[in-house]
Amino acid sequence: MRVESGGDEPSSQLLDHWGRVAADLRLSVTDRCNLRCSYCLPEDADSWIPRQDLLTPAEIGRLTQVALSLGIRKVRLTGGEPLLRPDLAEIIHQIHQAFMQAGMPADIALTTNAIGLASRLDSLIAAGLGRINISLDTLDPERYFALAKRNRFPEVATALDKLPGSVLKPIKLNSVILDQQSLEEIPELVRFALRRDFQWRAIEFMPIGPLGDSAATRPHARDILARLQECFSLTPIETDPAAPARRWNVAAGSDHPAGIIGVIASESAPFCATCDRTRLSADGKVYSCLFSLSFVDLLTPLRQGASNDELAQLWLTAQAAKPAGHREIAGAGRRTYSLSQIGG
Ligand code: SAM
Repeated sequence: MRVESGGDEPSSQLLDHWGRVAADLRLSVTDRCNLRCSYCLPEDADSWIPRQDLLTPAEIGRLTQVALSLGIRKVRLTGGEPLLRPDLAEIIHQIHQAFMQAGMPADIALTTNAIGLASRLDSLIAAGLGRINISLDTLDPERYFALAKRNRFPEVATALDKLPGSVLKPIKLNSVILDQQSLEEIPELVRFALRRDFQWRAIEFMPIGPLGDSAATRPHARDILARLQECFSLTPIETDPAAPARRWNVAAGSDHPAGIIGVIASESAPFCATCDRTRLSADGKVYSCLFSLSFVDLLTPLRQGASNDELAQLWLTAQAAKPAGHREIAGAGRRTYSLSQIGG
């Protein structure tokens, strides 16, 4: 859904050859992560964006100005793990300034594993953060270690205890459903989220990353929904066609309040036909699709003094080439390595 702005309509929009218009910018701020989730980032990962190529907060502010002039209305920060950037509050501040200069309501969101979030939450909110998604696949510390290969669950738990008192709205808890054990843990995750007024969302496994080839054998959205229906009374919510999640109202139960849950069925019901996203990597490359390896570089022209108009033209060209759907990207042009490279 497009958020109406108080500013002028953009002179050009990020239109692709299939008639879709991008309004949602996914901005990766690093490709590094402090976890090694077996399905996301291999333990032996050793190729990283050189630090001097990471966009600075000021450069991110500039590119946000360009994006807003092209019709972007919301920005989500992702990675890698965004909290690994010590200057994350300054990045958010620069993005917020760009919204203010454009006369638009700021819509800035963060996707994070929440490690170290508790102590930084106030400064991120003061800088302009409005929404947050926490990625957490299990509430069991032992399974967390087995999946993420790092013993950081206590830090996540501290952040999850602090979040309900914050002004961030909505707060979403995203869990990738990997296997039978994930399916079994669904009721506990849902109750945990409802009690904290978080929206829980199940993410279907996507064929990307070290275990990408196993996607076909992993639980599908229908298995997730069946498990949810066993335990909760659900009423479907009419959903914005561009939104990735199908959503349901959950009725209150004896041990949890009412709330909202969602299922993101990227594989069994891809939402490519209404995808309104454009992606910028931590080193300033525009990717029009999560699964595409083709990009247009904005970092080099930016550092060589290109004007906002010149950068906008490059971004328009990149987005015009957005593939119809991720299933259409095959062979060497398809990203297989990890979502953390581009920003999941
Ligand atoms: N570090 C941040 C976080 O944990 O939210 C942002 C980046 S992380 C790559 C974003 C999300 O992608 C996480 O929820 C992760 O579980 C998910 N992800 C990674 N590989 C996936 C796959 N093959 N299928 C579905 N989700 C995946």
